[in-house]
This record gives sequence, C-alpha cells and structure tokens, in this order.
Amino acid sequence: MQQLVLTLIGLSTLISVATANEPRSLIDLYQHLHSHPELSFHEEETAATLAAELERLGFEVTTGVGGHGLVGVLENGEGPTVLLRADMDALPVREQTGKPYASTVTTTDDAGKTVPVMHACGHDVHMTSWVGTARALVEQKAQWAGTLVMIGQPAEERGAGARAMLADGLFERFPRPDFNLAMHVSANLPAGTLGYTTGYALASVDSVDITVYGVGGHGAYPHTTKDPIVLAAQIVTSLQTLVSRVIPPVEPGVVTVGSIHGGTKHNIIPDQVDLQITVRAYSQATRDALIDGIRQIAQGQAQAAGLPEDKWPEVTVQDEHTRSTFNNPQLVDRLVPVFESALGEAQVQAVPAVMGGEDFSEYGLTDPKIPSLIYWMGAVEPRTYQAFQSSGESLPSLHSPFFAPDAPLTIEAGVKAMTAAALELLGEPPAPDDTIAAQPDAGEAETLAAESAASSPAPAEATAAAQ
Ligand SMILES: [Zn+2]
Ligand SMILES: [Zn+2]
Repeated sequence: MQQLVLTLIGLSTLISVATANEPRSLIDLYQHLHSHPELSFHEEETAATLAAELERLGFEVTTGVGGHGLVGVLENGEGPTVLLRADMDALPVREQTGKPYASTVTTTDDAGKTVPVMHACGHDVHMTSWVGTARALVEQKAQWAGTLVMIGQPAEERGAGARAMLADGLFERFPRPDFNLAMHVSANLPAGTLGYTTGYALASVDSVDITVYGVGGHGAYPHTTKDPIVLAAQIVTSLQTLVSRVIPPVEPGVVTVGSIHGGTKHNIIPDQVDLQITVRAYSQATRDALIDGIRQIAQGQAQAAGLPEDKWPEVTVQDEHTRSTFNNPQLVDRLVPVFESALGEAQVQAVPAVMGGEDFSEYGLTDPKIPSLIYWMGAVEPRTYQAFQSSGESLPSLHSPFFAPDAPLTIEAGVKAMTAAALELLGEPPAPDDTIAAQPDAGEAETLAAESAASSPAPAEATAAAQ
C-alpha cells in the first residue's frame, strides 16, 4: 500500500512545484547548496539552510549537535523510529565542471591556508534528496506512524562527524532509532539507478604515521651514518608483505604509503624520514593485524639496520579513523524489493563492496547494534555514462574537480528511494475507526529491528561465521 501511495508523488511535486510550504524547489536548493560549499566542521550556513527547511515542515529542530550537526524530530504516533542521515561537508577542490552554478568559493582552512571549496563528493545531492524525502513524508503523514529522526551530519570527509554527534548525545537526547538509512552518490552508476551491497560495504580507514630516525652525515661517507632513507625504503617494501603474507588471502586489506619525505640535498644523509600510510580493512581482526604488522616491520627493520632502541621508528595511529560499514543483510533483503518498486527492477543492482570509508558506520555500531543501510545512488548523466562505457575511459571519480552529477535525475530517484524505504520501515497508521487497536506493522518492525540488531555480527564475528 505504501508503494501505491508513493507512485502518486509525481516528479513535479518533488522537483519543481513551490507551494506555501515549499518556497524553494529542490533544484534551486541543490544549486544553492552546490554554490555555497563549506569545509568539514565549518558547515554553519549549510546547517542553517537545512534547519529552516525542516522547521518549515514542522520538525522539532536542534542545531549545534557535535559541531554544526542538526537533528530534526517528527513524532507521528506509535511506531518505529527511523533515522535518515545526510552529510553536509565539502572538500578543498577547485571546481572545473563548467556548470553555471559551479562553486567559486575559497576559504581559509584549519591550517590557515587559502583553499578552494567544492561539493566534489555529492553531499549536496544527499542533502537535497533528504529534504525532498522530508517533504514527501510530511505530505504523506497520514500514511505512516512512528518517529522520523532526520540528521544533518558534519565532517564526514574527516571521518569525525558521526562520532562527534554521538558523543554529543545523539542517541540519548533524541529518540534512539530502530533503523538507520543513508545514501551516497555513485560516480560509476547512471543517474536514476541504485546500487546496494549486503554485509561489509565500505572499509575501516586508519591513518598511520611513521617517523624513521637515522644518524645523518656526509653522502660520501655513508659508513659513518645510519641512513634513514635506505631504512625507509626497506620498510616501504616490507610493508607490501602484510597484505600478501600476513592477513588471510580472502580478507580484504590495503596498506598504501601515500607520502614519503626526507632529506634536503644530494650529498647529505638526513637523520629523519616521514611516512604517511592509509590502512583499510573490513574486519577488526584484519585491521589490528595490519597495524601490529606495521609496528613490527618498522621496529624489525630498524634493528636490522643496527639502530639503537632510542632511534627505532615512531609509529603513530591517528585518532581520526573510520570503522568499517556493515549493511545489515535482513534490512537489505527487506528494502531491495521496495527500491525495485520505487525505481523499477532494472534500475536496482547489487554492486561490489569498496575500500572507501564512511563514518555512517558509527550509527550502527552502538550497543546494542542498530540495523543500518547505506546505498549508492547513480549520479552520472546517462548519455555521459554511455559515452564513457563505449570509449572505455574512466568517468571522473568522486572528489574529482570534474565530478558533475546529473542533479535532477539523481535527486528525483534519491527522494523516491529514501521515501519508499522510510515508509516501509515506519509503521502503518491506526485504522480510523479502531484507534486503540494494536499496530501490527509497528510491532513487526520493532521485532525485526531487535532480531536484526541481534544478528548483525561484529566485524570479527562476521569473519568467524564465514569460515
Ligand atoms: Zn568524499
Ligand atoms: Zn562522500
């Protein structure tokens, strides 16, 4: 029934009709957000725009949750609580899409440097689809029962915003969700389509720094030095054995040395080299094995080079990290048919997991766990997609200065998919002539939430179960 209701929301309602309650079309809103991007933890204007949208719709809105995070709550009778999340931050990228609404914004970053800013990860599409979903659900308030918790999250790009909101009492000060949902645009799928992954969908992300020490000196007398450049090179090479020889072959893992700096001149052996490494995995066990392995290799190679203990490398794992994202299988099974009827069966497909990271994972990794799903909304203009498919070239990726989503089509599908999913998870309203009767849908949904939460394995447990 909820599907039938959904088909009545036409494109015109979603995209272009401005009524007293909707003074701004979704496309206007998108273009405004796109041309006013803000960096992580600086999403002040963006949050104010979203807060105004939700307030107009009758949500009770709280701002300043974990930085510029905002929470909108709409209570609509007895039923499950569904959290819908949009991330709000943009990136220090100079836009080169040539769109008339392209960003020309520059700002000062936290290090005091002047940087360009662009919504190069499509968070503007997420926010617009989220507002469209809020409008559609308010319009259909008579068709559902329960509590909607809509959150605008800061600092996703730094993997810190979700934790900041949780630390600020997201699940204590506001209704605790039975389900968490979010979308992310895909730069590899055509607009109007949806991709989903069951189980692990995105990786954990850790940033590791290694300071390699040596004993510097003249380049002509290497025997009087301990050369940290040779040592760093050996460490980098040895790190390649972690994925090939330390973790199980069927467990995904990445160890990438993204930065290496040391030395000043041809004929000077320096006394320090700095390495920056990104570490990615799905299971906690693999993540721990990779980080332990980095420490062992760094120390072992320094010992082999004959360095005294006080000159062994310093290995630092940064606090800013993201845990892996697990899409609850029961929730995926429940929502895929809903997505198919909202978008068309051919528009919905299973896609492989990736080693990118998303701090949406944090909302599900609570105690007890909350069934969660993040899915991909195709964002590539369909003709561009076809052209790249035939030429075999790579499409501009997320974070590229050329990433230009087909906003109207992506937002239309984004609103349809998220609205349909929320309607499925929320309860049915009580029958008008029997308001005291129990609400079977709400009850069922709550039971499923409890069952799903109980069966969402912790990363390590999932590995064990699969073996
Ligand atoms: Zn991103
Ligand atoms: Zn993103």
